[in-house]
Amino acid sequence: MDENLVLDLENLDRLLEEVNMEARRFLSSLHNRPAAVAPSAKATLELPQSGLGARRALKLFLERYEQEMGGSSGPRYFGFVVGGATPAALIGDWLVSTFDQNLSQQGSSGAPGVELETLRMIRQLLRLPEDFSGSFVSGATMSNFVGLATARQWTALRAGVNVVSDGLYGIKPIQVLSASPHSSVLKCMSMLGMGRKNWLKIECLPNRETMNVSSLQSHLEALAGETCIVVASAGTVNTGDYDDIERIGALKQKYSFWLHVDGAFGGLVACSPKLAHLTQGMELADSIAIDAHKWLNVPYDSAIQLTRHQDVQYDVFKNNAAYLDTRRNQPAFADLGPENSRRFRALPAWLTMVAYGRSGYQEIIERNCELAQVLGGRIEGSDTFKLLAPVRINIVCFTLKRSGGGPSQEEVRTFLDRVREDGRTFLTPTLYNGTPGIRAALSNWRTTTSDVDMAWSALMEVAQAMSS
Ligand SMILES: *Cc1c(COP(=O)(O)O)cnc(C)c1O
Repeated sequence: MDENLVLDLENLDRLLEEVNMEARRFLSSLHNRPAAVAPSAKATLELPQSGLGARRALKLFLERYEQEMGGSSGPRYFGFVVGGATPAALIGDWLVSTFDQNLSQQGSSGAPGVELETLRMIRQLLRLPEDFSGSFVSGATMSNFVGLATARQWTALRAGVNVVSDGLYGIKPIQVLSASPHSSVLKCMSMLGMGRKNWLKIECLPNRETMNVSSLQSHLEALAGETCIVVASAGTVNTGDYDDIERIGALKQKYSFWLHVDGAFGGLVACSPKLAHLTQGMELADSIAIDAHKWLNVPYDSAIQLTRHQDVQYDVFKNNAAYLDTRRNQPAFADLGPENSRRFRALPAWLTMVAYGRSGYQEIIERNCELAQVLGGRIEGSDTFKLLAPVRINIVCFTLKRSGGGPSQEEVRTFLDRVREDGRTFLTPTLYNGTPGIRAALSNWRTTTSDVDMAWSALMEVAQAMSS
């Protein structure tokens, strides 16, 4: 055995204590650490001929990179839609590597049973019926991928083609009807050979990102019985807008389509009685995508795909191999998604849901939404910024106020670069109805009123410095 391996094994307890101390140091700095950092240029490291051992390797890593680990899991990182890690989720994630289970097959560990139990709790959190089954995947992009791959098979079968065996060669393009799909939906259409251009854009209601359902109905009518896929958004990234899932779902009585709901972050509002009206009808979906690494505040990477067509999903993803045991009722997770070998991704989600329960999540989600309202109110009352859309949930979409039109994209970029350099908060740009804008997404369990105050001061100070 390599000498360093021998020594590291002997000193494993001490190593774990040291790394524990480093982790604590990082976590206690989270509140004051820059929300985001631009990496510095440095000479790249070469693979050493003989290694340094874990302790010196860790030291070297920290020297080179620790300063560049931004506080994206801290309370004032409002870019994209980024959650944090609750204490229970964090310890769960540590244990995932400690236990190092492979969740592809059943029969050699209790871990797959824990994944099933976690999925059950997710259904309960979202108040979804028992007939939704699913699995953990790496992110909502993969949840959308599994949903759309299953939808593709189901839809093609209705046109008389089994694409699992025959491919898409003998079939007309499958239309995907959606108003404001997340970019990952189009990426999935590319990955699945369905073609990005087969997105049929349904118009939105005026000044909204929500689908005009009458327009959807006209398009379904025009398809004259041809089966298609409808992708509904439960929380758009720009403005946190929702499609009317209940009305869309009701159209399944009359038209033949697969309904996929992308609820990557916005689906979670189903756990709040105050906000659950937004996701009403989600149970009518054929498949649903939910991220765990966003509003569930589980560390990267983690998401859930749900469907009520496990048989079709199994046909798409089954991984028949002679060395695998196929005697079972519950299909192996390797037969339900793109990955074969899989980490014990469900454990952090299990721990955090058990640790904080329904009420804990309701509180996080409602607090994030209330704080987004606070920020929105400040913007509305200011001469420096203006809202581009009403604050519906946890997303604030706004821009720099300019007399006669909006700011240029360049101005917004410069402003956001300076905000990042300031370090107190981090926000990302967008384009909303052709206007260059800024998004703040509040999805971290740590965020409180004082964080919003601090972020607001940073935004005002940077804007003032820029205009003087
Ligand atoms: C974030 C997001 C995705 C993609 O999720 P990843 O976790 O980044 O793969 C898809 N849809 C929506 C609505 C999102 O917000």
